[in-house]
Amino acid sequence: MNDSDNVKVLEPLIYELSRPGRQAVTLPECDVPESEFPADLLRDPEDVLLPEVSQIDVVRHFVHLSQFNHGVDTGFYPLGSCTMKYNPKINEDTARLPGFARIHPLQDPLQVQGALGLMWDLQNWLAEISGMAGVSLQPAAGAQGEFSGVLMMRKYHRDRGDTRRTKIIVPDSSHGTNPATASMVGLEVIQVPSDPNGDVDRAALLSVCGDDVVGMMLTVPNTLGLFESHVQEIIEIVHGCGGLMYMDGANLNALMGIAKPGDLGFDVMHFNLHKTFSTPHGGGGPGSGPVGAAEHMLPYLPGPVVGVVEEPSDEEEAPLYGWVMPERSIGRVKSFYGNFGILVRAFTYILANGPEGLRQVSEHAVLNANYIQARLCDAYKVACERFCMHEFVAEGCWDDAPGVRALDISKRLMDFGIHPPTNYFPLIVHEALMIEPTETESKEMLDRFVEVMLQIAEEARSNPDILHSAPHNTPVRRLDEVKAAKDQVLCYGPVCGG
Ligand SMILES: *Cc1c(COP(=O)(O)O)cnc(C)c1O
Repeated sequence: MNDSDNVKVLEPLIYELSRPGRQAVTLPECDVPESEFPADLLRDPEDVLLPEVSQIDVVRHFVHLSQFNHGVDTGFYPLGSCTMKYNPKINEDTARLPGFARIHPLQDPLQVQGALGLMWDLQNWLAEISGMAGVSLQPAAGAQGEFSGVLMMRKYHRDRGDTRRTKIIVPDSSHGTNPATASMVGLEVIQVPSDPNGDVDRAALLSVCGDDVVGMMLTVPNTLGLFESHVQEIIEIVHGCGGLMYMDGANLNALMGIAKPGDLGFDVMHFNLHKTFSTPHGGGGPGSGPVGAAEHMLPYLPGPVVGVVEEPSDEEEAPLYGWVMPERSIGRVKSFYGNFGILVRAFTYILANGPEGLRQVSEHAVLNANYIQARLCDAYKVACERFCMHEFVAEGCWDDAPGVRALDISKRLMDFGIHPPTNYFPLIVHEALMIEPTETESKEMLDRFVEVMLQIAEEARSNPDILHSAPHNTPVRRLDEVKAAKDQVLCYGPVCGG
């Protein structure tokens, strides 16, 4: 296999394209009367410093930028925990239907019954998939779903006059958003360790459970890609001390049609529509992290949610939908009603797959991860040697290849047009490489990835320099990631005063 396989070396990007007088479009003659604009609101065109470019300059600039990026539409993207599955293009077609794309959130609900009906169905489908009693579609990300869920749990206790509960339990394998959101709610985070099998250490959990605990946040399957073996016992322990159970459902891709968090006994959970339900993510685009509630937590859901305000008089007709604020709601967590365009995409995905299809999605996601784990486990140390769910964690280091780190393996993967796995997470695995292939990849792609990984394991001994100096054929080479995070330049040219 050759370094330049599949990878096109791109020209460096030239930023300064502006030339005085150049323009991309010509506007038609104005055919409405001109109106006066208040002089104090007008800016001097000399001060605005907009680039003056032709249409082809603009198109090339943005197309080049897009080619610098690795996306799921350009190559394999096994970024663990992030579920970078393929986003079917029919989702984009439905989201662009004028009836969905051109409505306004302030429109009278009577004029947007179709959109409300879609949200009503999606609320119910997510409830059905998860075994929860109800769902609010408001939160705009997984982390915001967590924030909403923890607020709901706190309010539930306060409503019962139980104000001593100020602590929340989080396993050491949890996603960073769990302790972060719980602290934002003002709770004290207690971390419990994992046992040698990668499950929650139940003795440690027992020792911190008490009447000062709001509840526990548990990721299932956890971030080692393992189904919590004693999930029911953990839930019993926490419920036993009066606490509530929150499920971080970002990894629901492994469970659809197989296990329901509501049946397991979770009180609150969130979904990541932009992971499990194939809506695009990355690059800071809009996400969606609906929150689900068991019966006793329904009154606390963020709102408004879609409800039926009038049953139809005859069975053939649709009910009348409207906005309903849950009785003891924690309130609004997002302007308007969530990221509606993302909801349309997730709705399309669920409708297109159906119940059988969603179960198949999870089965194939788990099968693909186990296939890669089985083929790599002689060459790489796998954190917990048991069947994994939709992802697994390998150690990116060897005793006989000193100096080679997970980062070097990741950078070398880029030479083959493959996005690196998640690095250095979960924190409890040394030199972690968290690999999640998803169900949308073919066996050929999985085999290619395995072969590249085996080649890299070989190079780590025979030619470690090629790993240390990777990537070799990307538009930019190894970045100084600390400088990139701490010393950001977010403007360009005259606007920066430069
Ligand atoms: C992605 C993820 C989150 C956070 O979701 P965002 O939408 O990125 O805020 C939380 N927990 C787990 C396990 C995740 O994988």
